[in-house]
Amino acid sequence: MARAAGNDNRRRPGYCGAMARITVRGGGIFGLAVGYELARRGAPVRLVERDRIGAGASGGLVGALAPHAPGRVTALKAVQIAGLRAAAAFWAGAAQAGGMDPHFARAGRLQPLPDEAAVEQARARGEVDRDLWGCVLNWRVEALAADAWRGESPTGLWVRDDLSARLNPRRALRTLASAIVALGGEVVEGRDVAAEGPEVWATGAAGLSDLGLGSGVKGQAALFKAAVPPDAPQLYADGLHLVPHGDGTAVVGSTTEAAFDDPSSTDAALDLLIERARGLSPLLAEAPVIDRWAGLRPRSRTRAPVLGALPGRPGVFVANGGFKIGFSLAPEVARLMADLVLEGVDGIPAELRAG
Ligand SMILES: Cc1cc2nc3c(=O)[nH]c(=O)nc-3n(C[C@H](O)[C@H](O)[C@H](O)COP(=O)(O)OP(=O)(O)OC[C@H]3O[C@@H](n4cnc5c(N)ncnc54)[C@H](O)[C@@H]3O)c2cc1C
Repeated sequence: MARAAGNDNRRRPGYCGAMARITVRGGGIFGLAVGYELARRGAPVRLVERDRIGAGASGGLVGALAPHAPGRVTALKAVQIAGLRAAAAFWAGAAQAGGMDPHFARAGRLQPLPDEAAVEQARARGEVDRDLWGCVLNWRVEALAADAWRGESPTGLWVRDDLSARLNPRRALRTLASAIVALGGEVVEGRDVAAEGPEVWATGAAGLSDLGLGSGVKGQAALFKAAVPPDAPQLYADGLHLVPHGDGTAVVGSTTEAAFDDPSSTDAALDLLIERARGLSPLLAEAPVIDRWAGLRPRSRTRAPVLGALPGRPGVFVANGGFKIGFSLAPEVARLMADLVLEGVDGIPAELRAG
């Protein structure tokens, strides 16, 4: 299996001083997070986006950083939990370096429990969180009266977790791009530039298809203007994410469409989501929709991220396959990729390796 830079798995002394510039391709959350982490560690970085920052899936509206329910520890869940735990420090560091605010907030999440079976399952997951995950989510069942944001739970009960967070995806991307430049790196938009040294391909759905590693799955989301209290938790109900952004807006997402004609158009499937969101949250019932968006999530064949050295391509690395949770994975993906590219240390779980 290919592992370290140049596929030679020796630990290198570090890349300060005369190292060749690292080219990161793709101005989505994976490329920018990796580029920022490399720059933060002192490496010379050039991020090359062929279109514009946020042209792909990352330029959308939702921005939920929402963990899987507690359960068996898989490689994917472990990377996601690590990413979520690192998120506050990661985004604070990027905000400070970049002089911008990604609107990150660890506001938690509430999920209404529709019936007794769901209540039992939620309570059992609380035990799993305690026993297997060390209470990392602080997952628990609570009785809460309806309010204007969350509406009613059919049982009066909700499951709450404290690890869920949210950010504004477009601001987050701009924050990272600005941080890369502030740290001495370069961000190139709208053209291609040849690599001078190692390359990291973080080119989203198009890149996955080109590499034969996966494809794109369409999703649509809508933005409401709504006076949701700034510290309100996000809601996950009936398969919908309702995410308040602390700035007088809230988002509903998302559709999941394997078959589509136009990856970037919105249609009646989004209208349906909007109606469902209006039915769930009283605050959204009359709220105007001020933006509609669609894009292609990069989904690998295994549905897990594809990370690491590309077999048979010395000095070429890939960071892709964020699928539905790219923003929550990003801080940990950035750490794993920087360890590999800069130090030759491959901590990527075998299940997520590119080769
Ligand atoms: C509707 C919807 C809602 C979502 N909601 C959430 C959510 O709430 N939370 C969450 O964590 N995730 C969410 N996701 C998933 C998340 O958006 C993706 O996991 C993430 O954006 C993938 O990031 P990426 O950087 O890999 O790809 P992208 O964001 O697609 O970025 C790839 C970039 O590479 C560029 N590019 C392509 N080819 C080249 C090339 N040859 N050279 C240079 N640049 C190139 C593209 O122009 C693009 O800008 C959602 C996705 C959708 C569609």
